[in-house]
Amino acid sequence: MSYHNIFDSHAHYNDERFRSIQEETIRHIRENGVAAVLNAGCDMPSSYSGLELTRRYPFFYCSVGIHPHDAENWSESNLEELAALAGEEKVVAIGEIGLDYHYDFSPRGRQKEVFEKQLLLAQELSLPVIIHSREATADTLELLRRYRPKGVVHCFSGSAQTASEILSLGMYLGYTGVVTFNNAKKVLEAVKVTPLDRLLLETDCPYMAPVPYRGKTCTSDMIALTAEKIAQIKETDVQDLIDIANRNAHICFGIPE
Ligand SMILES: [Zn+2]
Repeated sequence: MSYHNIFDSHAHYNDERFRSIQEETIRHIRENGVAAVLNAGCDMPSSYSGLELTRRYPFFYCSVGIHPHDAENWSESNLEELAALAGEEKVVAIGEIGLDYHYDFSPRGRQKEVFEKQLLLAQELSLPVIIHSREATADTLELLRRYRPKGVVHCFSGSAQTASEILSLGMYLGYTGVVTFNNAKKVLEAVKVTPLDRLLLETDCPYMAPVPYRGKTCTSDMIALTAEKIAQIKETDVQDLIDIANRNAHICFGIPE
């Protein structure tokens, strides 16, 4: 089946894995139903190169921010740099920011500190956030409750209960190819409690390729497989779901339709 109007709300086309195939891949997704892409920043270089992508490809948007993996390299000047970048027209969010206690690449105290600084920045700039949370649910929820940002918890793979708590804060949930994995039972329960108007579709490409491409380089058009799985759970038409998720992304990131 082929679909149109796909909004990939979380991608990394400036990732190393796309280096030699970036242009042909972006042409490929454009020809295969992808109408918009939000390229997420992880550190300063990827925040700058994400902005470059939006200049080269009119259907691209981007976010800027420091991922918890990189929290250790935070310097105070980053705040000003991020604020300046955030003033650019196609920069629609601060992210991805958050906590990652799976890899613990940076000490947890440092991760929290850098997360909080960027939550405050988003608040000051009235921008939504893109949250990365891995094995850090309690601490992430605590900070979301404290700062009450707008935005999305991306690559959501938690329980229905955690989903409900995030939804009650008014945030969106971003679902990736993880919903197609064999061990996806828990996240499918979360999908069930997520209202259609609070759900975003994303790839997190080049990572998280859905079944049957698991482990391969993921591209935004593969969102179709994620959408098919979610549509089946929600008992809705796949193209309708893609259209709703597209509209949700526009609303979540304040992008005029
Ligand atoms: Zn990501």
